[in-house]
Amino acid sequence: MARRQETARGSMPLKELLISKESTAMASFGVRDLDTMMRFAPRRYLVPAPLRSLHEVSQGEEVSAVVSVVSLRDRAMRSRHGFILEVAVSDGVDEIVLTFFLTKQHQLQWHRGRLPVGAQIIVHGTVGFDDYRQALQITHPAYEPVEDTEEGRAWAQRPRPVYPLRQNIAQATMRSATEKGLEFAGSLSRPVPDEVIARRALPPLEEAVRLVHTPLTAEDARHGMAHLRYEEAFVLQAIFAQRRGQDERTPAPVLAAEGPLQGLFDARLPFTLTEGQREVGARIEERIGNGHPTSVLLQGDVGSGKTVVALRAMLRAVDSGHQAALLAPTEVLAEQHHRTLLTLLGDLARAGQLDGHEAATRVRLLTGSQRTAGRRETLLDVTSGQAGIVVGTHALLTESVEFAALGLVVIDEQHRFGVDHRRRLRTKGPAGQSPHVIVMTATPIPRTAALATVGDLDVLSLRESPGLRAGVTSFVVHEKLPTWERRMWQRAGEEIAAGRQVFVVCARIDEDDAADDAPAPPELDEHGNEKPPTLEPARGVTQTAERLAERPELAGARISILHGRLTGEEKQEVMAQMVRGEIDVLVSTTVIEVGVDVPNASTMIVLDAERFGVSQLHQLRGRVGRGEHAGIAFFDTTAEVGADHSQHLRRIADAVDGFALAELDLRRRGAGDLVGEEQSGLQRTLKHLDVIRDARVIEQAREDAFAVVAADPALTDHPALAGAIADRLRDADPDVERS
Ligand code: ADP
Ligand code: MG
Repeated sequence: MARRQETARGSMPLKELLISKESTAMASFGVRDLDTMMRFAPRRYLVPAPLRSLHEVSQGEEVSAVVSVVSLRDRAMRSRHGFILEVAVSDGVDEIVLTFFLTKQHQLQWHRGRLPVGAQIIVHGTVGFDDYRQALQITHPAYEPVEDTEEGRAWAQRPRPVYPLRQNIAQATMRSATEKGLEFAGSLSRPVPDEVIARRALPPLEEAVRLVHTPLTAEDARHGMAHLRYEEAFVLQAIFAQRRGQDERTPAPVLAAEGPLQGLFDARLPFTLTEGQREVGARIEERIGNGHPTSVLLQGDVGSGKTVVALRAMLRAVDSGHQAALLAPTEVLAEQHHRTLLTLLGDLARAGQLDGHEAATRVRLLTGSQRTAGRRETLLDVTSGQAGIVVGTHALLTESVEFAALGLVVIDEQHRFGVDHRRRLRTKGPAGQSPHVIVMTATPIPRTAALATVGDLDVLSLRESPGLRAGVTSFVVHEKLPTWERRMWQRAGEEIAAGRQVFVVCARIDEDDAADDAPAPPELDEHGNEKPPTLEPARGVTQTAERLAERPELAGARISILHGRLTGEEKQEVMAQMVRGEIDVLVSTTVIEVGVDVPNASTMIVLDAERFGVSQLHQLRGRVGRGEHAGIAFFDTTAEVGADHSQHLRRIADAVDGFALAELDLRRRGAGDLVGEEQSGLQRTLKHLDVIRDARVIEQAREDAFAVVAADPALTDHPALAGAIADRLRDADPDVERS
């Protein structure tokens, strides 16, 4: 979707303020008005080297010095076309020569004009050695006039903002544009009320932007940025506060009935609920019973028992005379959820059948690939309310499926499901009511990250895993160390001999298919340049299966493949064989990533593991060790021992649970990607905030913003905040406002 780049409401258009070179430069970043430009922060600051006297400098050093011009000399270069300008300067004790190689006469004139004999300047540059004169020199230094006073020196030593650049834009253009903007800083819109800014000891906006764009010290820049960070957090939290306020004024079905289904279900659970499940369950019940739509983010590791918790809430919805929908990201997963629910519920799911329980309901699966007759029957059950529980993919919501009385929607795996889609559900309830929403994710978000990104949700976490799971131990295997690699396949062979099953996951389907290669992101050195690739091309499912068939360690093993190019029926058949234990080694792409349950599988081997995301690897290893047998996961890589990729994989292998990993992931990728690539919405557009570094800022801003919105829900007394919210939502997702 093309990002609309309109100007912020009521803000001065840059076209009226800047020369066209400057406004074009800003426009290349989508910055078109004063308010946006003043919040467009430098990426970093260049801090001049410390001031030195000339007698203490030596070759190769970066220095700054306050000097005066002693003499100038220029001559034509013999070998090349152009001129050399040599400027002798002195700090009163020693002399050094500044050397400029220039191609044009007018450049020569320009420097001469700025460097009259006797002029005081400050020079910044790297000291070199002139072989010809056998003396130190500084080639092409930066310089500017300076007053040789304390203030003059401080000004000369100020940090220089460095803005991101695009195309042929010069840094100087970005700087002059912002400096012009600063003259109008008094007219900027101030979304955070002045008294809040004062209470939090932040500089007022006008001063803050001056500090950010023209700081005298590094501390100045930090102080100014503190305002921008706070402001960003405040606007975001005000959005969440408004959404919550809106929810509190919206009617929702009251899902408060005590049984019969939920009680019957509890009574026949083959295990007792963990304390965490009971606690979280109670909090969900409290929320869905109160007559206003709630949104709960239920997070917990794979296997922590989320599904059972969600199912109990769904039964409560049915007990209360409403329907519940369970949505999965793919049809395969929807089918699996459907089977799981049927198994867990037994005769409680067989309403209208001979062996159904008298209190039973119907659990229906609705997918796009269903044949017309079956689909019509299912739809009838959905619209008539016969189906208490409907399982499907997210398409259920976009299609025009009419529920009789939808009371609760449970969404599995929210990292594949935009937060803003969630708000669209609001229209699906009966008679103007909004259904309650529970989003389940196995990719937990640390608390402040959740506040910053999904702050309109109640976050509930399941931290302990129910006892049945034997758990999984992870290892990093270096493909290039043959003994390790052999040991890994030996280990897989031993597991198979003991009657267990093995998953092997590849990053792509076919090695011969160039378009199919999933290229690893280029590695960058500390200067941001691309390093030559250190990894070999990813291995494919097809070839891996062929190679494994040849390995002595796996002799006699039944090997099958699974990937997205098989038909739905083929995929289903392979999975069914795997579940029945008719396959020993399943080589596949990440189609098995989420949800697939093969309790007898004990070994997960991920080839070219560095190509997978942190949470993907965690999900994958969560596929094994689900039953009574201990699981073992191998992250196989062609990276060298000790290389970045290898260390990163080791940290993942060592992280104990999803919560530890979430933090690891966040530190590595930054919050921008927090909830996954496909996520749309607010969290994609954090500009200044870092959800780990700025945890306190986020909490303070939340407290303040919720108080402001509580006192003035429509923000009639806070038009600047209302405007900033509208701009923010438009930036985040052009559709949001309309939903
Ligand atoms: P999640 O959805 O979080 O991945 P599930 O709800 O699917 O986890 O539970 C994983 C497995 O553990 C399932 O087989 C489930 O029946 C079982 N289980 C859930 N809760 C408990 C519990 N309290 N005690 C024992 N086993 C449980
Ligand atoms: Mg599950």
